[in-house]
Amino acid sequence: MNKKKKIYLDHSATTPLDKEVLETMLPYFTDTFGNANSIHAFGSEAALAVDTARRKIAELLGAKPTEIYFTSGGTEADNWAIKGTACAKKDKGKHIIVSGIEHAAMMASCGQLEKQGFEVTYLPVSAAALVSPDDLKAALRDDTVLVSVMLANNEVGTIQPIKELAQIAHARGALFHTDAVQAVGSIPVNVNELGVDMLSLSAHKFYGPKGVGALYIKSGVKPEKFMIGGHQERTMRGGTTNVPCVVGMAKAMELAIMNLKKNAAYVASLRDRFVARVEKEIPFVHYNGDRVHRLPQNANFSFEFIEGESLLLNLDLVGIACSSGSACSSGSLDPSHVLLAMGIPHAVAHGSIRFTFGKDNTQEDVDYTVDKLKEIVEKLRVISPLFAEFKGGVHNV
Ligand code: PLP
Repeated sequence: MNKKKKIYLDHSATTPLDKEVLETMLPYFTDTFGNANSIHAFGSEAALAVDTARRKIAELLGAKPTEIYFTSGGTEADNWAIKGTACAKKDKGKHIIVSGIEHAAMMASCGQLEKQGFEVTYLPVSAAALVSPDDLKAALRDDTVLVSVMLANNEVGTIQPIKELAQIAHARGALFHTDAVQAVGSIPVNVNELGVDMLSLSAHKFYGPKGVGALYIKSGVKPEKFMIGGHQERTMRGGTTNVPCVVGMAKAMELAIMNLKKNAAYVASLRDRFVARVEKEIPFVHYNGDRVHRLPQNANFSFEFIEGESLLLNLDLVGIACSSGSACSSGSLDPSHVLLAMGIPHAVAHGSIRFTFGKDNTQEDVDYTVDKLKEIVEKLRVISPLFAEFKGGVHNV
């Protein structure tokens, strides 16, 4: 029987759990199952594992262990950083600045804060999704308490000049947070080199388990507590620690950073082959994002005259998994706010698809995907009223 082809090109959505990471986690589901807060031997064993994981993650980020707070993932870390800081600093000021291309975790938190009387400035981005340091300078005010700009964008992969932006924010007395969820494990990330006060990360983006992440909070920076009701995370985030996942996150991060250069070069070579072939072989295609300041794994394309969702579903039928920024993934019919912020017209943004490569993809995966993509794009354009109109023909469906 023919086994259906399955090619996963959606590594920015999530990555498969590394087998070595799974092996490291397994004993903490069974033998070493204690509650890390219990004082008996079972608890101490679990606490030691959590402590070791915290130290490892801190070391890999250039932080102190006391600056790492475990969370349920990137969404929680982002919510905590922005809402916790806004709440803690509200007597100093109620103005926050974020980029207009942040992840939904940030955007929704900003919307909530606006309803509570905070003022949020959304920084514009260039056509390649870059934030301009001058725009940040112009937006800062005496009552700005926090600036948050993501290190790397999840849709187009553009990497922001965080070090420079953080310096600008600090010069005006504002704290700086960065969402590094897409960056950790793909590019070098060091909190001291970046000069940030807070940084979010999430294990399932670097071949670790889902449902675990961390917020780095620099010593002396004090957002409000996120969840209360326990003494965990030095009372800042109550709730029984997810020991297997915390252990898995540390192992995944260690492996990702140890192999970063090799894996980044490899996925970039796959991405480059893919981009080169798509641009050469498929007409009316636009590459979205910066071609220099970018993650190694991302390729986001707009295919004119077709709907991203149709393309996505047709690719799925031939075993290729990728993602679109609009309807299917977000539950809305609006095109991605990221692509719109980059100035891409609505109609073109609707035909956008993100392909994100991983360390287990092969050159054959790339070639099969381009071959299928060519066929599907051609097929969809044949039935596209927009394409018919563009060609000047009459479309009768
Ligand atoms: N921030 C960015 C940039 C992301 O890409 C994601 C996940 O897609 C998140 C935050 C949310 O992370 P999590 O899935 O761990 O909640």
